[in-house]
Amino acid sequence: MFSLTGKQAVITGGGSGIGRAIARLFARQGAAVHIIELSAEAGQAAADEIGRDGGRAWVHAADVSQQAQVAAVFQAIGAVDILVNNAGIAHVGSVENTAEADFDRVYQVNVKGAYNCLHAAVPGMKQRGAGVILNLASIAAHVGITDRFAYSMSKGALFAMTLSVARDYLPHGIRCNSISPARVHTPFVDGFLAKNYAGQEQAIFEKLSKSQPIGRMGTPDEVAALALYLCSDEAGFVTGCDYPIDGGFTTLNN
Ligand code: NAD
Repeated sequence: MFSLTGKQAVITGGGSGIGRAIARLFARQGAAVHIIELSAEAGQAAADEIGRDGGRAWVHAADVSQQAQVAAVFQAIGAVDILVNNAGIAHVGSVENTAEADFDRVYQVNVKGAYNCLHAAVPGMKQRGAGVILNLASIAAHVGITDRFAYSMSKGALFAMTLSVARDYLPHGIRCNSISPARVHTPFVDGFLAKNYAGQEQAIFEKLSKSQPIGRMGTPDEVAALALYLCSDEAGFVTGCDYPIDGGFTTLNN
């Protein structure tokens, strides 16, 4: 079960955290993995790790927010069976203290980056009558999280794009779903703590852990396992859905 042998998978932001875990697991399951990364160094480290594990991975240094760069990468890759829109950035702030430049940057990476990859990948999938797309949304797309104005906007957009693409390409054999994690312990979280809560990282880490009723953060490998299911042939009946993976955050926080 869950074999990806013979499949070509693109994972954006595959050099770190959740994307890296997805890249590693997909390669282990037999996929040829293409990592699109802003940080060529992080992408290469992930690809080297996959290589040591006996898998196949290629790194494409690119900024997903730049359409020309994304188009060139997809042109070089050729046929894509699986696209995982994972690259994303965080931002902390309410509408009042979100600067225009910050709002634009979150939109450019999280929303436009996914659109750029969809725009590049979907025509080929449509032509072949097959394809799977997975978007990394967030619980912030579904519940109000304090001080996440721009981030929530971007993740709500990913959820809506999931539904739109799933609907439009249902007749073409393309499935599209999204995953909405609560807090997952990745460099994304560590960076966010260092930037926004310098000096009180440990206390805030514990607070963030406890905000999941299960009492801890998720792990990148736990998210990767769900991603594998959704991108495998075993999930052939699943499209247009969002999957929370949140330690009870959205349903048990009362
Ligand atoms: P991370 O910061 O550990 O990794 C993100 C990767 O994306 C990095 O390697 C970074 O270089 C790359 N990246 C950033 N901007 C890019 C760009 N413009 N072009 C190409 N690559 C770019 O993040 P993570 O925690 O693994 O999160 C991955 C995804 O999951 C994000 O979309 C995030 O919003 C989402 N998510 C994370 C959490 C969490 O708690 N970690 C929770 C919910 C959703």
